[in-house]
Amino acid sequence: SQSTAVALEDPISPPIQVNYTKLFINGQFVDSASGKTFPTLDPRTGEVIANVAEGDTEDINRAVKAARKAFDGGPWPRMTGYERSKILLRFADLIEKHNDEIAALETWDNGKPYEQSAHGEIPMVTRLFRYYAGWADKIHGIIVPADSPHHVQVLHEPIGVAGQIIPWNFPLLMFAWKVGPALACGNTIVLKTAEQTPLSALLVSKLLHEAGLPDGVLNVVSGYGPTAGAALASHMDVDKLAFTGSTATGHIIMELAARSNLKPVTLELGGKSPMIVMDDADIDQAVELAHFALFFNQGQCCCAGSRTFVHERIYDEFVEKAKARALKRVVGDPFKKGVEQGPQIDEDQFNKILHFIKSGVHSGATLVSGGERLGDRGYFVKPTVFADVQDGMEIAKEEIFGPVQSILKFKDLNEVIRRSNDSHYGLAAGVFTKSLDTANTLTRALRVGTVWINCFDVFDAGIPFGGYKMSGHGRDKGIDSLKNYLQIKAVVTHLKNPAW
Ligand code: ADP
Repeated sequence: SQSTAVALEDPISPPIQVNYTKLFINGQFVDSASGKTFPTLDPRTGEVIANVAEGDTEDINRAVKAARKAFDGGPWPRMTGYERSKILLRFADLIEKHNDEIAALETWDNGKPYEQSAHGEIPMVTRLFRYYAGWADKIHGIIVPADSPHHVQVLHEPIGVAGQIIPWNFPLLMFAWKVGPALACGNTIVLKTAEQTPLSALLVSKLLHEAGLPDGVLNVVSGYGPTAGAALASHMDVDKLAFTGSTATGHIIMELAARSNLKPVTLELGGKSPMIVMDDADIDQAVELAHFALFFNQGQCCCAGSRTFVHERIYDEFVEKAKARALKRVVGDPFKKGVEQGPQIDEDQFNKILHFIKSGVHSGATLVSGGERLGDRGYFVKPTVFADVQDGMEIAKEEIFGPVQSILKFKDLNEVIRRSNDSHYGLAAGVFTKSLDTANTLTRALRVGTVWINCFDVFDAGIPFGGYKMSGHGRDKGIDSLKNYLQIKAVVTHLKNPAW
């Protein structure tokens, strides 16, 4: 059973240059204090794209100082919401104008299909900034009726300097999810990008300044987690911390925040999301949706539908068709038209995925497709499907973050609810059924932050996203994301003449 996947022969040259590789602090591109750089690699080949300034504690200190100054004395928190809104709208226009160039950079650094970057993610980034521009002049507190002769106001103020640490799987989308609400609320920011994907955030930060963002409001530091990231998380002058990444790092982040100044933390962490296929489902559609739920973005999604639960009545047919679909998946150079799956992000992730595949085989799951690397360079993995997966197996419990689908069999609704919820994670779930009652029952019973019914991975700007349990807390996007970036001040004024 050969895959139609094609190995990488001659990598297509991206039609762009890398123009920005330094740290972006106080409106300037600057070298790191140490002068050190680190390479960012092309996941198609493992070759160096560019050497990027490597930020560490001293650079984080400089960036926080700039953000502090911009917050305490600068114009950004003091200008009207309408003025902030106009800058964010101009920024969105600039992203739109440079869409293809940004998309090419994103694909080069990350390995995701160019069509997905250019027609999916970068337009979503534009959309997100327009969404948050819409909020900038509509954020306000309330008046509370008092029990005594007092006038009570609740003010919503920006929280201050926000530290933000983002991952590599959706570099610019994660930038937008974090930076959008923080800016709309009038905060200043120090953002640390993931070491695997530093490039696109630097390019758009330049555009954000062209759009009129004052210096020091957004500072971007490239660098590693335990150095630059930890310095940001433990900084005494950072007022709020937002993190997206692994649950293991989430533990560290929260501890660093607790040990330093108790800054509030929001976390968007890992998942092991169930994709539940009921026996009333159209099997072909269910196969396609479950395939998408897992394989999208090379399987590198925190919310990936990584436990495909299929009703026993349709199980065998589903497995056959899931196998056929995986074998048809087009893997290759992400710059090539029609390619559905590019390389994994780096060697570490690639090796981790191959380890999980071995673990699946050893634990007795049935390997029905894939199961090995594709080609002999870069980090390509064949679309892999396991059947007969049991709940206790490592591949059914741990987040694989790769193109490995695990198909599990179930008998009835209560059983699949119990098994779906039997996880430390609670990020998302997919449900595929024609029955309204089944959909409603599952929606209410599943302990997850998002339920997708007859769809998956729908990420509109207005839809809140985040986890239950060890998938984190706080929400990105939507109205709920604003709460992460606001401080609340109660103002109680004595009324001398309460009759009026
Ligand atoms: P992954 O394993 O998917 O790379 P991580 O959670 O390690 O996920 O990475 C997400 C982000 O967290 C990256 O920007 C990374 O540099 C950062 N990071 C990793 N370790 C730490 C740490 N000890 N302190 C702060 N940030 C970290």
